[in-house]
Amino acid sequence: MATLLRGAPVATALCERLAGRIEALEQAGITPGLAIVRVGERPDDIAYERAASRRAERLGIVVHRTVLDKNCSQDDLEQAIDVVNADASVHGCLLLRPLPAHLDERSACERLSSSKDIDGITPGSLAGVFCGFDTGFPPCTAAAVMELLDFYHIELSGKRVAVVGRSLVVGRPLALLLLGRDATVTLCHSRTNNLAEVLRQADIVVAAVGRAGLIDAACVQPGQTIIDVGTNWDENLGSLVGDVAHDQVDPLVAAVSPVPGGVGSITTAVLASHVVEAAERMVDSQ
Ligand code: NAP
Repeated sequence: MATLLRGAPVATALCERLAGRIEALEQAGITPGLAIVRVGERPDDIAYERAASRRAERLGIVVHRTVLDKNCSQDDLEQAIDVVNADASVHGCLLLRPLPAHLDERSACERLSSSKDIDGITPGSLAGVFCGFDTGFPPCTAAAVMELLDFYHIELSGKRVAVVGRSLVVGRPLALLLLGRDATVTLCHSRTNNLAEVLRQADIVVAAVGRAGLIDAACVQPGQTIIDVGTNWDENLGSLVGDVAHDQVDPLVAAVSPVPGGVGSITTAVLASHVVEAAERMVDSQ
């Protein structure tokens, strides 16, 4: 049976490492600040906002919340983002998405100052990830996958990693982070031919698709590490399930991350770490 790569100890270790850095910032007169901008009352957004705020506040990060009506105009939203950009006590901003359909999400994202973009939503922040520079931040979920792999000492250099899903939120930036760590990366998507065969050739498979059970016994080999990023609501079970058919896959592979309790449990800790790093970069630039 596969070793379970649980997210909780990864998040705990990450937060422990942050405590000293936050103390050093405090000694320099800086309290890290996180702005959260939410439009409307989507239960998913509210749940993530609560979890992110709780994690941040426990660490001593000040959280500034802005909630806009779900019918707000593009101008209202962009003005709120301008306020965040101008507020020197805010080092990082989380804009909860998806935005309501009447809003131009791309334009809203691009309005955010890339130095405060701690979730890889601006071209400026993603450019740093693309170039492998120490500027910008990858989306928190992509960074959470890297934290998980590192915590469990899963070797990346020279390994074949297949990432399934090429969105800008997970798969694409993750592929670049893995490449930056000398993995040989195959980025798969809905048009990939012979997906199962491609996946069987990898040492590590990361599934970030949003299709329950897509990664089944036919896609895996003994010895592989499988990271399940997918979150899908299973009506019958009344719970979240990943993209991996765990009943089939877990008995076959070496290690697997569960859903729930895997990558998803690390994202708020990563978000907090990005706020701290943004504050440190601001201090360094002064
Ligand atoms: P997305 O934007 O819908 O992208 C899905 C990707 O999967 C696309 O690249 C798509 O290919 C690919 N795909 C769809 N069907 C496929 C198939 N049959 N075979 C191979 N590839 C296929 O989704 P996302 O935002 O990246 O999210 C992916 C999953 O991660 C979702 O379940 C989401 O809920 C989860 N997620 C979890 C967290 C967390 O904190 N745990 C955070 C973010 C997202 P094309 O590009 O060709 O369409």
